[in-house]
Formats: sequence, C-alpha cells, structure tokens
Amino acid sequence: MHEHAHGRQHIETMIRNQDLEGLLNQAETLHGHLCPFVSLGVKAGQYAMVTLNRPNTGMEEVVAIVECNNCFTDGIQVVTGCTFGNNALIYRDLGKIAVTVARREDGQAVRLIVRPDYRPKMMAKYPAAGPLFQKIVVQRQGTPEEMHRFHHLWAAISRRELQTPLEEQFHIQHLTITMPEYARIFDSLLCSACGEQIMASRAVEQGGRTLCRGCAGGKVPVLNGQGIGQEIFG
Ligand SMILES: [Zn+2]
Ligand SMILES: [Zn+2]
Repeated sequence: MHEHAHGRQHIETMIRNQDLEGLLNQAETLHGHLCPFVSLGVKAGQYAMVTLNRPNTGMEEVVAIVECNNCFTDGIQVVTGCTFGNNALIYRDLGKIAVTVARREDGQAVRLIVRPDYRPKMMAKYPAAGPLFQKIVVQRQGTPEEMHRFHHLWAAISRRELQTPLEEQFHIQHLTITMPEYARIFDSLLCSACGEQIMASRAVEQGGRTLCRGCAGGKVPVLNGQGIGQEIFG
C-alpha cells in the first residue's frame, strides 16, 4: 500500500529533526512575512513539542496557552498545531511574549518566556534594523525602497536568529498544569430577528424571543489587535 504523508506529519518530522529553517518557512505561509518574533515562536514551539513528545492531530491532545497576540503566536500555532480553529489555542491577555504548551494525558507542560534582555541584545547585533523598524513599523512611514530593505533585513535576521542558543532567548520552566476542559459541542438555534444560526451557548432570551448577541444589542467580547475587549452592538 502506498502511504502518503497526511495531516501534520511533515511538520512533526521537521520538529523531530530540529529543522528550524523548514518550520520557519511553514510559519511564513501563515504569518505572511518573516520577522524575529515569528522565529522565536517557531523555536519555542519546536522545543516544547520535542520535550512533550506528543504528536498533535488537532484534537486537543496538546494545548498551547499564549500570553500575547503577535508574531510570536503565529510561530506557535504552526509548529504546535494548536490553533484558534481547533480550540487548542488558549489566549491569556497578559501582554507577555510567553507560551505554555501542555499535553493532555498528564498535564506535563513547558513554559517559555522571552528574556527581557533578548530584544536589546538582538537589536544591538543588527544596528541597521533599529532605525528602519522605528520608521516603518512604529511610525508606519518610510519610502517603498526603505520598506523593501526593511523586509529583507528583518527576514535575514529571523533566519539568523534560529542559530542563537535557546537559553539566550528564553527563560524555560518545566511544570505540570491542570488541563483545560475539552471544547464543548453545542446545539444550534436560530435568531428570530436576523434568522442566522447561532450556538445555543451564545443565544440571548429577550422578551420571549431567541436572539443572537448582535441583534440583542449590548456588549459582545472581541479579540482584536488591542487584545480582548468589547464591542457595542445595537
Ligand atoms: Zn511578524
Ligand atoms: Zn440576529
């Protein structure tokens, strides 16, 4: 019988072979560009997955708890296979560049947090990057030529940083955590105002009617570039 690679096999192989370059290429397809923090996410994810030694098929056998929503998190999603869509990505809005990856069967986990001196040391290694970063990312300015130069430099740094020893980049803790419950499956209901289908857990009873949160009005939780917040409807 011909056996072909399925699911995440090629990623699991790269994890075992410590093929950080290959994993970074995968991460680029999700993240859209290469940058030092997506590279850190790839390294943290690879280290955690090798340590836990538990292949992930996206059925919550491994969960990743991230503490920030930035480039780092996309490296984590690609390498660990814990995503927004398969319910294995948990977001704690702490604003720390950190992740805890844990395996279901015994709660064994590893937490990696970027060292406070990592960023200044990294920027000092690549003096051309600082002024360009300030101009293009922080102030959102810069000529097309500068933008081009920045993206090239940033990608080169992210590849180069794969070689930096992990201990110079992260503080690493081994721990045991209480695993979060499996995601629940809910019935579906129809909103009597807009007619759209909703998970029963998100339905609102109002004046004897079943409504979606949008039609019911009021505050709805939202995760956006600012972190977790609320959006006002109605
Ligand atoms: Zn990025
Ligand atoms: Zn509705």
